[in-house]
Amino acid sequence: MKVYSMTDIGRVRQLNEDSRYQPQPGERFCAVADGMGGHNAGEVASALAVETYGNYMRGVNHITGDALRAAVAQANDVVYRTSQESPEVSGMGTTFSALAMEGKQCFIAHVGDSRVYLVRRGTLMQLTLDHTLVEEMVLKGLITAREARVHPRRNIITRALGTEPRVEIDVIQLEMRAGDVFFLCSDGLTNHVPEREILRAATSRADWNEKLRRLVGVALENGGSDNITAMFAVYEEANGR
Ligand code: MG
Repeated sequence: MKVYSMTDIGRVRQLNEDSRYQPQPGERFCAVADGMGGHNAGEVASALAVETYGNYMRGVNHITGDALRAAVAQANDVVYRTSQESPEVSGMGTTFSALAMEGKQCFIAHVGDSRVYLVRRGTLMQLTLDHTLVEEMVLKGLITAREARVHPRRNIITRALGTEPRVEIDVIQLEMRAGDVFFLCSDGLTNHVPEREILRAATSRADWNEKLRRLVGVALENGGSDNITAMFAVYEEANGR
């Protein structure tokens, strides 16, 4: 597994409240988190969640869906307890999209409206479901996906990490194939960058950091109204196979 990531404050916000877990050599897990809350509480929430997740995952020998879920639940617990103990960060929360690999298995754990995509054989597939009001309205057939993209309340999220003592965590497992690439990002990217641009960048011949620069650049050109975080997790098959 090779992971490349980039974050940018955007053109409007005073703080970057996104955080990411960029793995150390040999580690097979990563994450993107987009914090929310008054003052700098969002920054605290996303950073604390990422740190807690990293500490937990470093202690896991064999990664499973349950292990990944436990790591994210632990992050929820730490963020929630901190918000209860410190009035200045009361009510803080964060999205959390985590990915881990074990052999050919990929595990994803997800809360909120950051996203994980899979790029496979020239196609782009969104693996996570946004936990947002508009996504629920789309699922109920009340509005179309196209309407959701411009809906005035599209930023309202229905599930966050750290705002309640317990959180429901979506966990996905899939078997990877040679050439699989995962793309994790915060909504500051997806609000401004069409999916065809993500696919185009991911499948271009540029190196991974250049692809990230290109995508963050498009988000900035198209408004940069929020913090932008983008990450590629590239699956590498075992040696010689
Ligand atoms: Mg955001």
